Amino acid sequence: MTDPLANSYYAATAHEWPVHADIEGEYACDVAVIGGGFTGLSAALACAERGFSVILVEAEKVGFGASGRNGGQLIPGLRWSASELEAEFGHERAAALFGLCWRDNRVKTRIAKHGIDCDLKVGHLEAAWTPKDFDAMRREAEYLSKRYGYETDVISKAEMGAHIASPLYHGGIHDTQGGHFHPLNYAIGLAKAAEAAGVRILQGQRANWILDSNAGELFLSESTIEARYFIDATDSWIGDIEPDLGRYTVPIMNYNIATAPLTNADALLPSDAAVADSRFVLNYFRLSADKRLIFGGGERYSQTPPRDIAVFVRPFMAQVFPQIADAKIDYGWGGAVAVTMNRLPHIGRRGNIFYAHGFSGHGALVTTLAGELIAEAMAGTAERFDVLANLPSQPFPGGKWLRRPLATLGLLWYALRDRLG
Ligand SMILES: Cc1cc2nc3c(=O)[nH]c(=O)nc-3n(C[C@H](O)[C@H](O)[C@H](O)COP(=O)(O)OP(=O)(O)OC[C@H]3O[C@@H](n4cnc5c(N)ncnc54)[C@H](O)[C@@H]3O)c2cc1C
Repeated sequence: MTDPLANSYYAATAHEWPVHADIEGEYACDVAVIGGGFTGLSAALACAERGFSVILVEAEKVGFGASGRNGGQLIPGLRWSASELEAEFGHERAAALFGLCWRDNRVKTRIAKHGIDCDLKVGHLEAAWTPKDFDAMRREAEYLSKRYGYETDVISKAEMGAHIASPLYHGGIHDTQGGHFHPLNYAIGLAKAAEAAGVRILQGQRANWILDSNAGELFLSESTIEARYFIDATDSWIGDIEPDLGRYTVPIMNYNIATAPLTNADALLPSDAAVADSRFVLNYFRLSADKRLIFGGGERYSQTPPRDIAVFVRPFMAQVFPQIADAKIDYGWGGAVAVTMNRLPHIGRRGNIFYAHGFSGHGALVTTLAGELIAEAMAGTAERFDVLANLPSQPFPGGKWLRRPLATLGLLWYALRDRLG
């Protein structure tokens, strides 16, 4: 498939990784994983570590989906704040979610364990678009400290200059549990670790459907894989294989640019934190290892990419950093963010098929965890998996054809509310 969105800084700076497409005939294994993004790679690696024989099939290349194209922001937690989770689910369940999704940074653990070279940096800053947003952030920081002993730094508007050279923001929260990385090189690092652990990774192999009986079969174009368990880690494409699961997410296109290396990069983001702001259609940005600004901003509810991604994203960057409004832009790319109705991921098990999708723009950290929890559940301990699998979920209304237009209408409403302040 040619990819009109492939002009990415990550692809241009990716580590070597050969494409193996040597498959025909019939295969058998304990676990067949579909999708070579963070979720699938993490699950495959963790299953192999537990002694399962594993084959992973990826339709394109490892990291082709959101995992190799995202903003690289490692943001602790889920799209809901800890206080929102507690208000909805009560303390016990919220505390279990907090322990997993905020405290248990599995990405850091994997990077350290396998020596993955992916430009990992410490520090994430949530920047307040309005004074009201800052008040809410401050309250949440106090709540996290008192309720969970989780400490973050509350940064006043006057102190923001230590992190970001933009007059726009009314304060923020700096979290040293968060950070940023080169997502494609992390995915490639996971793939190498998985192969070393015995996973057979087949790239350029599209799975078509699963014959869902006890000893199931996965059908590829020219072969089949017989397995005891399947892991559907295809995120935005999940409906192609499991149409019913496809009802739980809609793909929203999101775009990134990378400037040419900037001589004033350190002055723009002096603490080198990744920054995401509090707008509904948020701006998020960070520096690459070679001092480019990688900036994401603006969503498009049509699946068709803008004719020129740099032209589409530049105004958002210029609003935050007028001092580099005319900077040279070397790369522009995009990808689909799979979003659920309530912005919580949809994770679970149906018979011998495990799935995890719909991380709603908050997947860079939690997907690695989700993959590992799937392996844990498969090996017989489902307690931690169930914490995530029991999150409430609802399919989008509207059936196959109306689902996306209806979801789009809802999102446009929030985006409009953003603009009206
Ligand atoms: C532009 C953008 C910016 C983002 N920024 C951030 C961020 O800064 N921080 C953050 O936390 N999250 C961010 N996200 C979200 C995050 O990237 C995702 O939540 C996460 O990468 C999802 O990983 P995954 O493995 O579940 O899915 P994916 O990475 O999408 O992997 C799915 C894989 O399945 C493969 N596949 C699909 N169908 C088949 C098939 N039939 N057979 C075989 N293979 C198949 C695809 O080719 C793909 O490689 C962003 C997403 C995008 C698109």
